[in-house]
Amino acid sequence: MGEIRTPMFEHTELFVRGVGEGTDVVQKEMYTFTDKGGRSMTLRPEMTAGVARAFIEHNLGQQTLPQRFYYIGPNFRYEKPAGGRQRQFHQFGAELYGSAEPAADAEMISLAYEFLKGAGLGNATLSINSLGGPECRAKANAALLEFLKNSYDQLCPVCQERSAKNPMRALDCKEKSCQAILADAPSPIDFLGEECKKHFDDLKTILDAMKIPYTIDPKLVRGLDYYTRTVFEFIDPGSGLAVCGGGRYDGLIEEVGGSSTPAVGFAMGLERIIQMLEQEGQPPQANETDIFVGSMGPEGYIKSQALANSLRKAGIRAISDLAKRGVKAQIRYADKIGARFSVIIGDSEIQSNQASIKEMKTGAKEDVGLDSLGEYLIGKIKA
Ligand code: ATP
Ligand code: MG
Repeated sequence: MGEIRTPMFEHTELFVRGVGEGTDVVQKEMYTFTDKGGRSMTLRPEMTAGVARAFIEHNLGQQTLPQRFYYIGPNFRYEKPAGGRQRQFHQFGAELYGSAEPAADAEMISLAYEFLKGAGLGNATLSINSLGGPECRAKANAALLEFLKNSYDQLCPVCQERSAKNPMRALDCKEKSCQAILADAPSPIDFLGEECKKHFDDLKTILDAMKIPYTIDPKLVRGLDYYTRTVFEFIDPGSGLAVCGGGRYDGLIEEVGGSSTPAVGFAMGLERIIQMLEQEGQPPQANETDIFVGSMGPEGYIKSQALANSLRKAGIRAISDLAKRGVKAQIRYADKIGARFSVIIGDSEIQSNQASIKEMKTGAKEDVGLDSLGEYLIGKIKA
């Protein structure tokens, strides 16, 4: 899977078509401006539309399919900056183009699941649902409109407006009164045609085989219009906030001007992940240092710089002393930057031609000859 970097802003039209005219993102949250050429441009509120545009523009569909991409970068949404929302935030996400198989959905879900687990959010709960294809959606929307007919007046203004364009979005409304009305509303999952139902059943079977725990949330619809069939969300149980959202978007490439290409992917909010880790008392660790190479005296100073440099060339995260601190202060510093090992090269080490490698956590020491110290450390740290 390779990284894809798309521009920070695109023609406004791309998001209107891709994300969907009736969505909150397009209606309320976009930073849109007119450039000097009189074109309407928008700072990207999400990355998928830009990836789809690039996929078409660079004929990536002509290459071997499926293709997988990951991205990481800033997004911009005009939202109230509180409660886990920023106006500039970062997303990490992955997308798979060119497979309509439920196994592709499962692969993306698994990738998000393993990533969150690796980041320390293994307790985030996975909800899945299926919205079906265009035909199933039309039926579900019609049934929902019928259901809402009698309680239309009690819906919040946003849902009243929504129910005209995309009634399904009302299922996602956070207003208590709407939630009460919609408690028994028909779900898109009840209107899946044969193929969409099989897709969803197969996905569940594969997730079971992968031992990925999930619950089915028949009310899960998600906020962007491009989803078809599978939608999913990982929720932090503490705050109830979504850390990751995704699903299948088989119609997107066609919608933004390419030839029909099935696709599935997810995006997660990096600030939100950090916020959850902080709330759980496990703030993300600063980039770890493999080894601190300290020194004493002018000759040791030079030798330690050369050693740290050769370690870095071998791909080891080595930090040397750049402040000419005393040895004690150097060790304190090594501890602060989370170094796994430390070694000090001073006059006595040069005289005896050996130095002592200290494992910071345990205090265990190991003496090694200076001539083979670099090679020895590379082997030890990379082991
Ligand atoms: P929410 O329901 O929280 O508004 P969303 O449906 O708008 O989320 P997506 O568009 O699916 O979210 O974006 C995927 C992820 O990006 C979210 O799960 C969240 O972690 C993060 N995210 C979305 N908007 C913001 C924001 N304004 N600030 C920080 N993170 C955000
Ligand atoms: Mg939102």
